[in-house]
Amino acid sequence: MMTHDQAADATSLRDAIVRKLTYEMGKSRSGARERDWFLATALAVRNRVIDRWLEATRAAYEQGEKQVYYLSLEFLVGRLLRDNVSNLGLLEPLREALQTLGVDFDAMRQEEPDAALGNGGLGRLAACFMESLASLGIPAFGYGIRYEHGLFRQILHEGWQHEYPEDWLTFGNPWEFARPEIAHDIGFGGSVEAVRVSETEMRHVWHPAETVQAVAYDTPVVGWRGRHINTLRLWSARALDPLKLEAFNYGDHVGALADRVRQEAISKVLYPSDESPAGQELRLRQEYFFTSAALQDLVRRHLRVYGDLRSLPDKVAIQLNDTHPAIAVAELMRICVDLHGIPWDEAWEVTRGAISYTNHTLLPEALESWSVPLMERLLPRHMQIIYLINAHHLDSVRARWPGDVRLLSSVSLIEEGHGRRVRMGHLAFVGSHKVNGVSALHSELLKKTVFRDFHLLAPDRIVNKTNGVTFRRWLQQSNPGLTGLLVEAVGPGVLDDAGLLEGLAKQADDAGFRDRFASVKRSNKEALAALIRQQLDLRVDPDAMFDVQIKRIHEYKRQLLNILETVALYDAIRSQPHLDWAPRVKIFAGKAAASYHRAKLIIKLAHDVARVVNGDPTVRDRLKVAFLPNYNVSLAETIVPAADLSEQISTAGMEASGTGNMKLALNGALTMGTLDGANVEILEHVGEPNIFIFGLTTEEVEARRRDGTHGLAAVQASPRLAEVLEAIEAGVFSPDDRGRYRELMASIRGHDYFMVASDFDSYFQAQRQADLRWRDRAAWLRSAALNTARVGWFSSDRTIAEYAAEIWNVPVRR
Ligand SMILES: *Cc1c(COP(=O)(O)O)cnc(C)c1O
Repeated sequence: MMTHDQAADATSLRDAIVRKLTYEMGKSRSGARERDWFLATALAVRNRVIDRWLEATRAAYEQGEKQVYYLSLEFLVGRLLRDNVSNLGLLEPLREALQTLGVDFDAMRQEEPDAALGNGGLGRLAACFMESLASLGIPAFGYGIRYEHGLFRQILHEGWQHEYPEDWLTFGNPWEFARPEIAHDIGFGGSVEAVRVSETEMRHVWHPAETVQAVAYDTPVVGWRGRHINTLRLWSARALDPLKLEAFNYGDHVGALADRVRQEAISKVLYPSDESPAGQELRLRQEYFFTSAALQDLVRRHLRVYGDLRSLPDKVAIQLNDTHPAIAVAELMRICVDLHGIPWDEAWEVTRGAISYTNHTLLPEALESWSVPLMERLLPRHMQIIYLINAHHLDSVRARWPGDVRLLSSVSLIEEGHGRRVRMGHLAFVGSHKVNGVSALHSELLKKTVFRDFHLLAPDRIVNKTNGVTFRRWLQQSNPGLTGLLVEAVGPGVLDDAGLLEGLAKQADDAGFRDRFASVKRSNKEALAALIRQQLDLRVDPDAMFDVQIKRIHEYKRQLLNILETVALYDAIRSQPHLDWAPRVKIFAGKAAASYHRAKLIIKLAHDVARVVNGDPTVRDRLKVAFLPNYNVSLAETIVPAADLSEQISTAGMEASGTGNMKLALNGALTMGTLDGANVEILEHVGEPNIFIFGLTTEEVEARRRDGTHGLAAVQASPRLAEVLEAIEAGVFSPDDRGRYRELMASIRGHDYFMVASDFDSYFQAQRQADLRWRDRAAWLRSAALNTARVGWFSSDRTIAEYAAEIWNVPVRR
């Protein structure tokens, strides 16, 4: 039943939607299609946001509150309609309003494009953080790039991935406000002039060869219960001189537009790689473009209110999401020293006081660096500033450890050797007052590996902030069935405070509760089964265990280990078909970077195995394999609530945190995981009996890598694995191209960097433990409910509250 207020809301929403449809879109009700209804609805909902948004923004300035600026090259936002409507408390009234117009909310909302301005975990983290910042009432801006084309659309043709551009803006974006008047000039190239301003003082003036404008597009970010609303400000590139009229008039139409095309390319596409740096000049342009725009924007705002940059660290906290915006260190120094005449040492205090940096990876190949000649050409003044920062930095190291040449070269901002390069992680480290890792294990490894020497120099600099996910999106909105049950079980306070989930633990022993928990899961699985049938023309049994691995395809994430185990299970079922096998559906989804051939081959292998297994009548419903195309936030929102088993099987020491692991555990999936990233903390929270842990530890992986023969030895010690490799190698799953996987299988017997062979038996055994637990329905359900009950700590509200207290020094209001 709707309350009186809700009924009034429904009526006014309905009127507003019809007005938008008619007078802003020029469509009649009878001619309106579902997309039109979506746009009209989004515009009507947006109207409900604006007053509060402007008010919240104004109040933050007036009260002199410290502002958080989250700089991220990626924001993997997904759809916003349900998020905004739900946080505004308008879900029921809106459903009702649309129903009276003959529109089904759930069908209509699928018309919203999925905003995929990110590759994976890092971008999704930024989106979860923006939501939590607003929900905790922390005044904040997110700064990034308004890519015209986000992450590519993945089409799978006979198991091979093809990439197509994603056109999320084609029909307009109802959530954003273009701000053509908010624009900053971003320079590239040119020269630096040293000008004497007094007897003792020089000023450096940068004369860029080229200037591009960064134009703001603002999207309101609505916090839970609409309490607070922040801004996601994304920058779009605009050429200053859009057309060389002279050239055009002479008939060179293409040439007249060439500069413009080149300049505006900066915000055209997201670099579609994950965990490996793009390396190209356009990427560096993107990084400087949005970082400079963000800093100019926040400096202008600060100066307007406070008039002096020296107070910046009291009023501003700048968080760098990975090293992509690390050039901020040099840019803020340039703004302070060159543009505002602040002496170097004071400028350095301001910069370090304001900036902090989040590291996301230990993989050496993923650490960003830029060649010195490229930096000198594109950002000549910044290169000088980086040299100067480095000189001061190395002086202080020399003063404390005289003569330690190894240390000096290890902590230098410049990598000497084949081609000199600027190490962006080092720049970010020295320019920050805090550096954080994203899980307890990862932060400890930072101190022992990539930043070992830096940790010696500054033992208080590295802190840990274990990632989290927003429970509004990943529980309340994506799993309304479970949310309803939780509200019944522990009260409505659970919607505001994830800590209250703990109250659920005692109900895990109640058979009646477990049945209701199971029935919610069952209906989510039916929905996923329907999607699998529609997308893949494959029938799966919703009573089978839904065993899910959804994430970017990467060797370190080890989808290959999962596929090999699938083949081993398939062989085992076929050799003993009379046994009572626990029925499973293996569900995969994920994109491979376009240039990552090995990852694409792994996708193909999953399809080849799926074709054979799904077509084998002896296996029947006991094993099915489904690879769903085009993994994105919206697909995750359907899969996560339906999962029974969550595959988090990265090689120990390689996954910084993971957040998919948190979403899945929250929705009652048991984790099958290695001791990696945040899995370690999930284990601590849910308890050893409620998770399946297998495989080598980080130390064991490291030790084994020193021994080059571990791959072969592990295969020889495992007849089961040897049989699987031989079958795949012989072309059993690829009769059309028997040699397709020869090299892939050989790599496992070879140096096997990712320890697929070494972890195989332990993984297979852990899977059989999962089978046993699955057959004990009460035990499984109890563990599942305990997972939901005990992972409240992984709310991004907790993470953000920790950043606020320990890094940003800002209060939380809730
Ligand atoms: C959560 C999420 C990720 C991150 O998944 P991991 O398993 O942590 O790698 C990537 N992509 C999407 C769409 C997500 O929702």
